[in-house]
Amino acid sequence: MLVASNLVKSYKRNAHVVKVLQGVDLDIQEGEFLSIVGASGSGKSTLLHLLGTLDRPDAGTVSLDRKRIDTLGARERDRLRNSTFGFIFQFYHLLPELTALGNVMMPAMVGHSMFNWWGSRQEARKRATEMLERVGLGHRLNHKPRELSGGEMQRTAIARALVSKPRILFADEPTGNLDAESGEEIVKLLRGMNREQDVTILMVTHNLELVRHSDRVVRMAGGKLEMGFKFAGSGSKLVEKLELAGST
Ligand code: ADP
Ligand code: MG
Repeated sequence: MLVASNLVKSYKRNAHVVKVLQGVDLDIQEGEFLSIVGASGSGKSTLLHLLGTLDRPDAGTVSLDRKRIDTLGARERDRLRNSTFGFIFQFYHLLPELTALGNVMMPAMVGHSMFNWWGSRQEARKRATEMLERVGLGHRLNHKPRELSGGEMQRTAIARALVSKPRILFADEPTGNLDAESGEEIVKLLRGMNREQDVTILMVTHNLELVRHSDRVVRMAGGKLEMGFKFAGSGSKLVEKLELAGST
């Protein structure tokens, strides 16, 4: 469904150039839950940004359903990010002055004309409430982010990302700021959503304990993606293999 081909990306810092991606190929299947691991600074976020059209490659292509998306104009990329893609991040990026419900209603309210504001507001409220209930926050609808735990904030961010029924969810270190137990709960929730909502998930993580909940894991190293391992119910063995390969 989503295919990256020979992606190259560098950043200029002062006089010198940092080569981050040096020919990355990746083929993401519809419905798959894929994990990307790799050392800090290896280019995992950079890759996610290119795949999600948040940034453009210097060379190479990104295609969705065999159509190139890296060359789309700003408006079309905005539309893609609002309808087809969802994003969650390590630090949640919730709006502090809105409640959990308000945060989850936000994407649906953006882009509606005043004319049908009221009708769409009711509909958005209903859908946001259902989504928050689904992620286990039915009792936290009117809490603001500062009144929520880290795990609850990430659940809110997941509800916000999925309320518009995207086809692909990009998750950049979604458990990076959580304790082991809440982190595991979040990944299990993502796995549940992947199966229930048929949402394809691309998760960047440091935590090798968590990748066993996904279908496949690939590793960023030396500016390239190394061959992946497929999980077929024997996740822990493969995690050992990855550890031997010197990941994170
Ligand atoms: P990861 O997510 O694997 O930790 P990143 O993709 O964030 O890695 O970063 C890869 C490398 O690119 C790092 O060396 C980082 O410092 C550098 N980098 C990332 N974004 C920028 C930027 N906007 N400008 C300059 N350098 C950057
Ligand atoms: Mg990163």
